[in-house]
Amino acid sequence: MSNTPVAVVTGSNKGIGFAIVRALCKQFPGDVYLTARDTSRGQEAVAKLQEEGLRALFHQLDIDDLQSIRALRNFLKEKYGGLNVLVNNAGIAFKVKDTTPFAVQAEVTLKTNFFGTRNVCTELLPLVKPYGRVVNVSSMVINSALRGCSQELQQKFRSDMITEDELVKLMTKFVEDTKKSVHEKEGWPNTAYGVSKIGVTVLSKIQARMLNEKRKGDHILLNSCCPGWVRTDMAGPNATKSPDEGAETPVYLALLPSDADGPHGQHLSDKTVQTW
Ligand code: NAP
Repeated sequence: MSNTPVAVVTGSNKGIGFAIVRALCKQFPGDVYLTARDTSRGQEAVAKLQEEGLRALFHQLDIDDLQSIRALRNFLKEKYGGLNVLVNNAGIAFKVKDTTPFAVQAEVTLKTNFFGTRNVCTELLPLVKPYGRVVNVSSMVINSALRGCSQELQQKFRSDMITEDELVKLMTKFVEDTKKSVHEKEGWPNTAYGVSKIGVTVLSKIQARMLNEKRKGDHILLNSCCPGWVRTDMAGPNATKSPDEGAETPVYLALLPSDADGPHGQHLSDKTVQTW
């Protein structure tokens, strides 16, 4: 088994994830895994970094597929005995003009952004080694999405007591409510992406709390963040930041030094803790 530190970035064949891998290849003292759901897209991305003189390794990972997540988990366990850095970056967003029925958008978006990310965490968090760093990529849209929720939902999402089961039930209810066209009546905002990222952010707070309760001595730091508005296939060419600039906050959190005792359980933007 290798003692080399290891970092894994989900959804990193392009966009912000690719830029995070590029930065980690330069700064992380260990093996950096670029992962992608499509093997050829992933390997092309690794080759692109190689042309820049950077060495990333590749492993297939589709966060919608539990078998794929477990294959990566088993690989990490056998080869490295765990992992040191996990960046949950993979995500999807329907374009504003997309005419796909809202209920379908809700189901598809939540499947990847919330349930897929949660499945990766369920399988990989137990493997994170002491002094490990976990970064869940959320978005600034959580602010307006949360304001668009009923007072009752806002209170639940802001609660320091909410459990992972309760959060999963709420995310499931959102999808079901959209199918019955009652989501607005039930207090939800009209944004599937926004709700999925509220889910990612609240999940991060819950996971950080669980680490405090169960693995306090391990000094693991786990946070969510917004990369900013970044020029990628998702956000388009008019966004204000380059992918490398978008990678800055996730990389900062992934590389928090071993003597840092925070941030932990926070949501950051531009390397700054946000209240929401
Ligand atoms: P992007 O260019 O569309 O890249 C998304 C990445 O996620 C791609 O590599 C994509 O793979 C991958 N992905 C999607 N579904 C996946 C799955 N089931 N399993 C594994 N990988 C999957 O988007 P981006 O702008 O870089 O976004 C990266 C993250 O930042 C997302 O979580 C996004 O929500 C968040 N974010 C972006 C912005 C922005 O302005 N761009 C702002 C706030 C937050 P394929 O190539 O196979 O599709």
